[in-house]
Amino acid sequence: MKIAVIGAGSAGLAALRHCTSGTYDCEVVCYEKTDQVGGTWVYVEETGLDRYGLPVHSSMYKNLRTNLPKEVMGYPDYPIPDTPASYLTRTQILGFLNSYCDHFDLRKYIRFLRNVELVKPTDGGDRKWTIKVKDLQKNTVTNESFDAVMVCNGHYFKPSVPNLKGRNTFQGQQLHSHDYRTPDVFLDKTVVVLGAGPSGMDLALEISTKATRVILSHHSKDPIGTVFPDNVIQKPDVKELTENGVLFDDGSSESVDVVFYCTGYEYSFPFLDPTCGVRVDSNMVTPLWKHLVSIENPTLALIGIPFYVCAFSMFDLQVRFVLKFWFGKKDFPTKADMLQDEKDELEKRATEGLRKRHFHQMGFKQGIYYDDLANTAGITPLPPVLTKLHNESSTRFLDDLLHYREARYKVIDDYNFIQL
Ligand SMILES: Cc1cc2nc3c(=O)[nH]c(=O)nc-3n(C[C@H](O)[C@H](O)[C@H](O)COP(=O)(O)OP(=O)(O)OC[C@H]3O[C@@H](n4cnc5c(N)ncnc54)[C@H](O)[C@@H]3O)c2cc1C
Repeated sequence: MKIAVIGAGSAGLAALRHCTSGTYDCEVVCYEKTDQVGGTWVYVEETGLDRYGLPVHSSMYKNLRTNLPKEVMGYPDYPIPDTPASYLTRTQILGFLNSYCDHFDLRKYIRFLRNVELVKPTDGGDRKWTIKVKDLQKNTVTNESFDAVMVCNGHYFKPSVPNLKGRNTFQGQQLHSHDYRTPDVFLDKTVVVLGAGPSGMDLALEISTKATRVILSHHSKDPIGTVFPDNVIQKPDVKELTENGVLFDDGSSESVDVVFYCTGYEYSFPFLDPTCGVRVDSNMVTPLWKHLVSIENPTLALIGIPFYVCAFSMFDLQVRFVLKFWFGKKDFPTKADMLQDEKDELEKRATEGLRKRHFHQMGFKQGIYYDDLANTAGITPLPPVLTKLHNESSTRFLDDLLHYREARYKVIDDYNFIQL
């Protein structure tokens, strides 16, 4: 079997690691459009388009420290080594991904500076997929054939920006967190931050060191419990932008210099031909079996779709899951059954109050997803301590944004951790 991996971020590396472990008889090629591994964790100062005219992929900012402890950020068979702190810098995570890549000798399978432009089922021929790849340095395009494809292109690169009334009227600056690098750009400015997800919270705090005033606008019914610095205040959702400021849902208004969108990202697979049978509907990637396998074409897998997860471990689990099925150790259910599975999950989530755009959100219930994958494929499960510690960290993040990164943890066994 010849497998293509698209992207050499932490998901693509996990795909390569298992395709090359010797367990399965396969040939694998990974295409990466940048010149290095690590994806999101590669910090680049440039924004907009890169030197090849492609949109800059990474949303990484200069001062980022992880929002999860390293004890839940490693791979199951390659944990992050001991360090004095649990919450690491972006440089440490990138270093870790490079060491993973070298430890498993994965670099030789990666073709750097190759942008995948199109993936489509092959008309006839021996292999099922045709992939059109552009060599960015030579500016040449080739078509390659594969039996199966793992899409590992990430989902934090296409900004989601609300279509607010007055967006074209506002005279100040508008910026999405994808294009944010350092807080200096907000020096002496009044900034309204839209959104209080992980980025909105973290960045409101970071820019408060430079900005005069930061107004954190969000739709949580109650104010966020964390103690912010004195120059950060909370407001409800923005209703519309005016020439020099914003109007909020509660009727109040503020003059601002910058509207800073921390409003998240859209899933995007610009290279998937419609005949692949995967579409994005209100930010739900569908139809997928177990948030992972294309139901229309099960030799196409999308690694890394769920969010609020222990990412690297989940990627590893998803890759092991997919390989079991692709190599015939397990049989896919019928198409009708897979579709029913997806429908049932959508209905279950609706009863829990989750909208379509939260279909892939895992969070506090991520352990159920991990166990389901492991049980269905008969593969080694992820230890429950991952979910426990992820939940502990998420709770502390919300309660104590200023200090939660000071905590240090140690995993004792598959079920327990302690705080040092
Ligand atoms: C600001 C920020 C902070 C985060 N902080 C944390 C954290 O603290 N802890 C945590 O666990 N997670 C965090 N995450 C989530 C993070 O995205 C995941 O941990 C993980 O790195 C995602 O890996 P990935 O391989 O799926 O995607 P990516 O890392 O995005 O990698 C995708 C790769 O695919 C390549 N690619 C894309 N399209 C093509 C194409 N057409 N052809 C060829 N190559 C292509 C890209 O160049 C890239 O190298 C954060 C994310 C962001 C944006």
